[in-house]
Amino acid sequence: MADVSRSFPSPSSKLSYVNPSPTSPWGTYLAQVDRVVPYIGDLARWAETLRRPKRSLIVDVPIELDNGEIAHFEGYRVQHNLSRGPGKGGVRYHPDVTLEEVMALSAWMTVKNAAVNLPYGGAKGGIRVDPTKLSRKELERVTRRYTSEIGIIIGPHQDIPAPDVNTNAQIMAWMMDTYSMNVGATATGVVTGKPINLGGSLGRVRATGHGVFVTGREAMRRLKMPIEEARIAIQGYGNVGAPAAELFAAAGAKIVAVQDHGGTIYNSLGLDVHALGAHVQQFGTVAGFTGGEAISLEDFWDVKMDVVIPAALEGQITESRANRLSAKLVLEAANGPTVPAADDILASRGVTVLPDVICNSGGVIVSYFEWVQDFSSFFWSEDEINQRLDRIITGALAHIWETAEQHKISLRTGAFVVACGRILTARAERGLYP
Ligand code: NAD
Repeated sequence: MADVSRSFPSPSSKLSYVNPSPTSPWGTYLAQVDRVVPYIGDLARWAETLRRPKRSLIVDVPIELDNGEIAHFEGYRVQHNLSRGPGKGGVRYHPDVTLEEVMALSAWMTVKNAAVNLPYGGAKGGIRVDPTKLSRKELERVTRRYTSEIGIIIGPHQDIPAPDVNTNAQIMAWMMDTYSMNVGATATGVVTGKPINLGGSLGRVRATGHGVFVTGREAMRRLKMPIEEARIAIQGYGNVGAPAAELFAAAGAKIVAVQDHGGTIYNSLGLDVHALGAHVQQFGTVAGFTGGEAISLEDFWDVKMDVVIPAALEGQITESRANRLSAKLVLEAANGPTVPAADDILASRGVTVLPDVICNSGGVIVSYFEWVQDFSSFFWSEDEINQRLDRIITGALAHIWETAEQHKISLRTGAFVVACGRILTARAERGLYP
């Protein structure tokens, strides 16, 4: 008999996506995994599972445009790891979304859900589309076709999408309706971040920003940084950035600079966040706001500040920006905003980075509450939601902080130690099938 064992791949056989650029989202995630492996003991045996998304689906999304032409968009849903429960993670609409980016975002969801101990695995989705170029009807058609295409792997017990960049409660309503039509029953638990009327949860819209504020306030308390008068710069003024700005301003901090896709506004005395919010509501960007002066995109990073909150996209804190930042604390409201080399520079400069997997976990925590409420058809008050959110997120932060101090590692690696310990323990206990 032929010796077939030699034709099998080695245990760490190369994947097609193992050599990403170190500053790409997937490259950033892989470097973060490498850093945690020395701290997870015998579980390191299972670490390769973290580097391999369990399931990646690429779908074609054809729609008829309002002018009668046919347009095709590429869509993705990646379930990175389902060891601890169904997949959970948002859907992003952006012209630059790639499969590799969605892989990284889904992996960070695995880590985030485990870091705060939610009974979920990690997943993420996206469509390569600029939603600002579509009419409302076209956006609905894209959403419904995409939902049908990924319908073979999502479901209330399988994988539960939610909003992310450029998606919102209306898009979740169309997703829920499409899935429900296809299965022949109203399945509110298939997505979270829905309108309140359709089984959405109170507090969900502002939950991520709320969590950024609560974890940021706790980090500032631990670092003995007074919140009153703290100068804060925020990149991204959307679902996450705007509520965080309002909460920090209400606590006495000065929001000295904000940046979005349209421009950057600076005011050393602090911006009026309510007037700014009204401006963004009307014009869709912070650009043109007269309560401060317009500065260049790159000057944002040179503003004198105590805290910076990246709340837009990945890879924003580069090596060069990390060297120049005057902030002593980075609150990662966005997913993956700091590249690994910048992480090292910030650590060597004594800058504390509160990692995304805890800092922006408020959104998925309240999504979890929404999912639980949908199953029981019993809804909680906003006070109950916020109290439970605060309890879970501050408890998780304390655990991560203590783990980081115990091993003398960064908060990011501390969060990965806590999370990967849970993920890989579940993997080991379940064993391999068959
Ligand atoms: P959003 O679409 O509501 O807002 C995104 C903001 O980023 C907008 O102000 C936009 O103008 C700005 N932006 C886009 N490109 C930019 C660029 N090149 N430079 C500067 N600003 C730019 O999205 P969101 O839901 O607020 O998500 C923001 C980040 O937070 C993302 O990384 C997302 O993954 C993460 N996040 C969101 C949630 C949530 O509940 N929405 C939860 C956890 C993490």
